[in-house]
Amino acid sequence: MARQFSGKKLVIASHNMGKVREIGELLAPFGVETISAGDLNLPEPVEDGDTFIANAEIKALASATKSGLPALADDSGLEVKMLGGEPGIYSARWAGPSKDFNIAMTEVNRQLGDSKDRTANFTCVLTLAWPDGHMESFEGKVFGDLTWPMRGERGFGYDPFFVPGGHQLTFAEMDPAAKHAMSHRADAFRQLIDACFPKND
Ligand code: IMP
Repeated sequence: MARQFSGKKLVIASHNMGKVREIGELLAPFGVETISAGDLNLPEPVEDGDTFIANAEIKALASATKSGLPALADDSGLEVKMLGGEPGIYSARWAGPSKDFNIAMTEVNRQLGDSKDRTANFTCVLTLAWPDGHMESFEGKVFGDLTWPMRGERGFGYDPFFVPGGHQLTFAEMDPAAKHAMSHRADAFRQLIDACFPKND
């Protein structure tokens, strides 16, 4: 059985404001007080793992051991079938030092060229780590298609580029609650809650 989260305070082990906001929104119904690694001035660890899970564990463990509190990390990215799964774990890095996702989406679109297969998925691994080094990890996915030109102002990262399967709007055009009902992060989050958060019944 997975270890249960029993505290009141959780560090969100991320300096990415889009992720911090979404994880905060997903956690809101559970009465957990959150603080981000950025707010605590925790250094960003080097993400040198070669899988989403390895990188999520690096981030969660670094924040938990440095803060003395349980910490939740998210490692996620866009995997494009015709690009062999790229940008994948390098999704943030494709945006370059200016973190400009217009550059990253334009490059993915350029590499896809006139390919008819524009299918892609987002993957998210959430890792909950405790200061003693114990960790629990969960992986979620959402499948869809890449649209061009990009559309929408909401969300973050590659959201204006991604239309989830069975829908017309991009993640960046949807109400945040609609994204939270179907996203890769919500999928991983449901598994985390089922396994690690005490039931109130
Ligand atoms: P990392 O997990 O910090 O390495 O960064 C993952 C990158 O993947 C983010 O900076 C985003 O560009 C992208 N990404 C992850 N989740 C989402 C999402 O929900 N929407 C759009 N882009 C995402």
